Amino acid sequence: MSTETMICENLTVDARGHLNFAGQDTVSLAKEYGTPLYLMDEDRLRHNCRIYTEAFRKNFVPGSLVLYASKANAFKRMLALAGEEGMGLDVVSPGEIYTAVKAGFDMSKVYFHSNNKTDADVAFAMAHGVGCFVAESEEELYAIEAEAKNRGKHQRVLIRVTPGIDCHSYEAVNTGKVDSKFGLAIETGQAEAAVRLALDLPHLEIEGFHCHVGSQVFGEDVFQRSATVMLEFMARIRNTLGYLAPTLNLGGGYGVPYVLSDGTVDIAARIAEVAASIRSDCARLGIREPRIQMEPGRSIVADAGLTLYTVGGLKTIPGYKSYVSIDGGMSDNPRFALYGARYTCLPADKMLEERTLTADLVGRCCESGDVIQEAVPFPASIGRGDLVAVCTTGAYNYSMASNYNRLPRPPIVMLHGGESTVAVRRETLEDLVALDL
Ligand SMILES: *Cc1c(COP(=O)(O)O)cnc(C)c1O
Repeated sequence: MSTETMICENLTVDARGHLNFAGQDTVSLAKEYGTPLYLMDEDRLRHNCRIYTEAFRKNFVPGSLVLYASKANAFKRMLALAGEEGMGLDVVSPGEIYTAVKAGFDMSKVYFHSNNKTDADVAFAMAHGVGCFVAESEEELYAIEAEAKNRGKHQRVLIRVTPGIDCHSYEAVNTGKVDSKFGLAIETGQAEAAVRLALDLPHLEIEGFHCHVGSQVFGEDVFQRSATVMLEFMARIRNTLGYLAPTLNLGGGYGVPYVLSDGTVDIAARIAEVAASIRSDCARLGIREPRIQMEPGRSIVADAGLTLYTVGGLKTIPGYKSYVSIDGGMSDNPRFALYGARYTCLPADKMLEERTLTADLVGRCCESGDVIQEAVPFPASIGRGDLVAVCTTGAYNYSMASNYNRLPRPPIVMLHGGESTVAVRRETLEDLVALDL
């Protein structure tokens, strides 16, 4: 029996010492589908969606909406599942829009982000009936107006504002500060100027305001602080321009634990606190409570994902260090190489053996930086043919994967009720040369 504390409830260990995920034996799954392999736990996905949708129903005014940030992991089955759970969608590119179309998503609930939407992107999004554009500049407002006019329609827009909040997480995912490449700053007057313009453009309908202060947010009051800044901004716009926006989108970003020392976020409790804070702000400012939107990505998909790899070998340099090499790497998970992301890595076929060896888990790419995690505890017996699981890989792994070294991307297999189904097939060598003329 294993007494190991797991990073997520959907991980267990069976009597043979095999790691089970979503109640299924990872060793059998690796045999059946090959490695590297992305697994997704469908029940966990739905559970994560419902934490938000139920908290929204309880705490916010009708018409409030949870948007899944599809950049965290976008493939047809995933987007369809978010739709089935009553969520809208945040997309950032024609590719994500097209995936939503192909998934049969209700496009009126799709919100189009990006700090640079080309004219072609704007036309593409409108042609596919994208419900709302999240505009980030006056140039963009003009471009949306021109396309809407061409089509003889009105286009809903949210105006993205930077509330000037530092969310104290990694710099690279910290986007709500005044000097960000994203959004229009309140402090400089640029946000208000954009609202003035949007109110004047006849084919635009302002749905409200958007902000996003960062990702992997654990800080207790980050959303309250940004909501307060945004509600004060909305009240000021009502006072100066006579326009009260019906919707406030607070962006994404609740953190998830990757290693046991990370701690957890009680999202339902936090949302209730945000709602209480919004109610009291609205009362103080004398404005009606807006519909609220949030855009979770990571906290929907991260712990629903797990990646399996086969070990090629153990290399020990006496007096220095050891490496365990696997059959994937930065091509399917670039997050350690990009910003030193932490992960819990487990010997999936030897869970009951003592882990007395410390080794870096490294990929097969031709880069010294191709590391999945440093200083991982492994059984001393680990070697060629063993199986390694990297946990909590549902977010920003498949969506950031590449074909570096012409490695085919792994398949995504969905797990539910003891069954497994391929949602994205493994890339083939033919796929890799399919674009070469
Ligand atoms: C990345 C991003 C999200 C999702 O962030 P998570 O940390 O994955 O929840 C939501 N909204 C915007 C605008 C983003 O850039």
